[in-house]
Amino acid sequence: MPTPYHRVLLKLSGEVFGGGGIGVDPDVVAAKAREIADVVNAGVQVAIVVGGGNFFRGAELQQRGMDRDRADYMGMLGTVMNCLALQDFCEKEGVATRVQTAIAMGQVAEPYIPRKAERHLEKGRVVIFGAGSGMPYFSTDTVAAQRALEIGADALLMGKQGTDGVYDCDPQTHPEAKKFDELTYDEFLARDLKVADATAVAMARDNDLTMIFFNLEKRGNIAKVIAGEPIGTTVHR
Ligand code: UDP
Repeated sequence: MPTPYHRVLLKLSGEVFGGGGIGVDPDVVAAKAREIADVVNAGVQVAIVVGGGNFFRGAELQQRGMDRDRADYMGMLGTVMNCLALQDFCEKEGVATRVQTAIAMGQVAEPYIPRKAERHLEKGRVVIFGAGSGMPYFSTDTVAAQRALEIGADALLMGKQGTDGVYDCDPQTHPEAKKFDELTYDEFLARDLKVADATAVAMARDNDLTMIFFNLEKRGNIAKVIAGEPIGTTVHR
């Protein structure tokens, strides 16, 4: 498969894993694992950050009376369940994987050790990063940008639910919304667009990391975005 990338960081929205509901839809995760196996077998190094929106979002639990810090830890633990489901289905596809978490849980995952993650990637293993940053008040989008930078990924590929890129306003509520093929980091931030966390975009801008937003729900899109097909929105300098 011709590709402009040697190593990518794939951010997978938790919502997609839930297939629209709470918890994990094994059929959806199996389908994503098959797509990931195809690109890994084509020689691309793939690291993944999985979200947790299909389980808990700290800010939402806070609105319903929970302490934000504890709710955020619940959110982070939710991401680990997604990691284990993805690991399982990737290994059923014959792809070696390692899960590394930012919160220590030795029975189920390695701790986050960036240099070790790079070694795994060099050996063709998929590395799945879980438990976010281990810190409340962050999002998995921001973690994805940080991990992409730390492991030297060529691009940050943001797989989203419910949108095929970045729009000037919410396409769900504004049918006239216009999709961008390309956008600068500063434009993204100035428009206060909600498709990704502003902290993630600012971190990408400050370190010149290209972000590509695409629809994760559509089968085949992981291979297309890694092949460099213009299926979403590229955010760069
Ligand atoms: N979270 C956190 N710190 C992190 C990453 C995630 O506290 O470094 C919590 C936060 O409550 C967040 C939840 O985990 O709402 C799930 O992550 P996120 O909302 O980013 O998942 P996604 O929307 O990508 O599925």
